[in-house]
Amino acid sequence: MDGWMMSCCQGVLSKSKAVYQAIKNIAVGNVLAQVSSPTEMEEKRLAVCRTCEHLTWYDFAGYMGWVGKNARKVAVNIDNLTVLPELEVKEYRIGAEMFCSVCKCRLVAKAKLKDQNCPLNRCE
Ligand code: SF4
Repeated sequence: MDGWMMSCCQGVLSKSKAVYQAIKNIAVGNVLAQVSSPTEMEEKRLAVCRTCEHLTWYDFAGYMGWVGKNARKVAVNIDNLTVLPELEVKEYRIGAEMFCSVCKCRLVAKAKLKDQNCPLNRCE
């Protein structure tokens, strides 16, 4: 019984840590995207994304609309949004930003974070 309790609690703790880390990454990446210039690493990563079939373009309202429609699934899977159905791939238009249809990340924010990777291992 103790073993079961331990493993259950550890599972909850590790999910909590993953959720905390995911929220922290989202916050840090988005702040850095606002205040710092792109580095060589980011430019290389974004160059790969620009040629990828999973690149999509959303403006803030469009992306938040998707988040709102999928609020429960996003909340439960915030540490791994790849499990949700892919975002619709949309063409560039004024005001839109680069997102990944697989991981659902805002790519200028994700590219800032060294420990964040392409879900398909296409970027360094
Ligand atoms: S993160 Fe990977 S899968 Fe997503 S757009 Fe960039 S290269 Fe494509």
